[in-house]
Amino acid sequence: MITIRSLLDDEWYQKYRIISRLNIRSSIYDVTNRCNLKCRGCFFFSSGEHQSAPEEKDLNRWAEFVDKEKDRGVNLAILIGGEPTLYPDRIAAFYDRVPTYCATNGLIKVDRDRFPDMMVGISLWGDPKVEKRLRGMDTFAVSSRNYAGDPNTYYLFTISPVQLGSIEPIIRKIEDIGVKVHMQLLSNDEGVDGFSWSDDQLKRVRDEMDEMLDRYPKTVISSHYYHEILTTQTLLGRSFGWSECPSVSEDWDDRGPKVKRLIRFVRWAADLKTTHRCCTSQTRDCSTCMDGAAHMSWAMVNKRAHMRSSRDFMNWISIYTMFAKLYRFIPW
Ligand code: SF4
Ligand code: SF4
Repeated sequence: MITIRSLLDDEWYQKYRIISRLNIRSSIYDVTNRCNLKCRGCFFFSSGEHQSAPEEKDLNRWAEFVDKEKDRGVNLAILIGGEPTLYPDRIAAFYDRVPTYCATNGLIKVDRDRFPDMMVGISLWGDPKVEKRLRGMDTFAVSSRNYAGDPNTYYLFTISPVQLGSIEPIIRKIEDIGVKVHMQLLSNDEGVDGFSWSDDQLKRVRDEMDEMLDRYPKTVISSHYYHEILTTQTLLGRSFGWSECPSVSEDWDDRGPKVKRLIRFVRWAADLKTTHRCCTSQTRDCSTCMDGAAHMSWAMVNKRAHMRSSRDFMNWISIYTMFAKLYRFIPW
């Protein structure tokens, strides 16, 4: 019988022991339907999710809701929107009760006296030219002033095909302000010309992401295996898509036979009653989905399938470790 110990040398076994103690149960929350930007390709607005439910305005209801989520077993609240920092009191309803991660475009600085160790993930879509084209402004110019040197912040850099060959200057400027970075790929939900991936471009971006991880290991939070899964859309010979996706809300999951999935995962709308189909756009064609979190979770929920060789299981550990670092369950 293959055991975990037999697959790993001492060093990797120690890495395994660290993550094996974790029992992460995440869910995602739309804090608001509003945003202070209007990005072309934003999955939230392009799919009309901002109109799917009105916002709950009573702060007591937010607090009661989070208590119920804790009772449901959630131990990681991932706040998205819209732009969560427009509503710090709603953020506090989570932060005061449960480990909380806040996604933001970085234009508003979270109050570090109020949220000293909250993990903040700042969206970045490319160099100033790309950012201006897709988001209407160079957000890095503002977010870098707000978050330079912040030890609980990383950039979530969404790479698009037009950024091929010029990823490094962006990684370097993030390193220069003393912040970490994680990479994912754009799903071109609004069909912007030149922003969809070809097979050749996916091969090239994988090489470039690998190179960034090797050259900037203290700044880039990633895993070669994550790059492989994301750019090939395959895992142990299986193809990504609706029939494999782990990030489907529990009450939307009518798939059979049962799929390996994130236990208790739900994505809630801002009325705290409505749920969305999955962690990203409700209208996205799953066969074109490049969502980074869904891909890394796909590997994580398939632990047993990776126990077929030492190499596969070390790959699994590397991706789980990356996830745990991104949400600060373990140090960078
Ligand atoms: S900042 Fe985020 S939520 Fe706001 S429009 Fe852009 S992608 Fe959408
Ligand atoms: S769009 Fe992506 S994240 Fe959503 S169900 Fe489809 S594959 Fe999963």
